[in-house]
Amino acid sequence: MGIPIIYTPGMKKRLTRRALAMLEMALRQFPELAGKGITVGYTKAHLGSAVLPRRPTADPKLTIRLKVRKLTYNTIGHELTHLLQGLSRQSALITRIPGGEKQCDVWTLARSSLFCDDAPSYLRLPRAVREKWPQYAHLVRSLCISAIEKRKSYRFYLRWLEAEIKELTRRPLRKSREIKQLALPLDG
Ligand SMILES: [Zn+2]
Repeated sequence: MGIPIIYTPGMKKRLTRRALAMLEMALRQFPELAGKGITVGYTKAHLGSAVLPRRPTADPKLTIRLKVRKLTYNTIGHELTHLLQGLSRQSALITRIPGGEKQCDVWTLARSSLFCDDAPSYLRLPRAVREKWPQYAHLVRSLCISAIEKRKSYRFYLRWLEAEIKELTRRPLRKSREIKQLALPLDG
């Protein structure tokens, strides 16, 4: 399996060896995208973007745009998750991912610890968690995995998640480390 990647001329000019390796590594975490071509373009914007057709087609054109400088796995993962949010609405073969920016952050972190290299942009995080992100990343990821489970029976799972993340700062870091063991139940 592989994901054919097309780089736009603007991206080709700026693509570094590091960015290329990161993209390939990130794409490996998205088996649902195997066999689908992805166009990777360049943007100057701090956050990337993702575009896909509004209507289902047999061969949808999927595009993400990324900044190359200070590129993080979290950003790449976030944009690829946006593609899955759209595709999962159009195809029953792809496990549904609800739309929305916060949802995108939750499903990205839950997917792989690879995407824990930077704090998510839309999920509400207490300042301490944002500032000491490397210390909290895996705890937040575990909570994201729990939130996805919780969503099956609880509509306000995002509110629950943000409250739980806030709680993290009230506990000594060492104590809460036990929830790190949770694994992501992947059914894709
Ligand atoms: Zn987004």
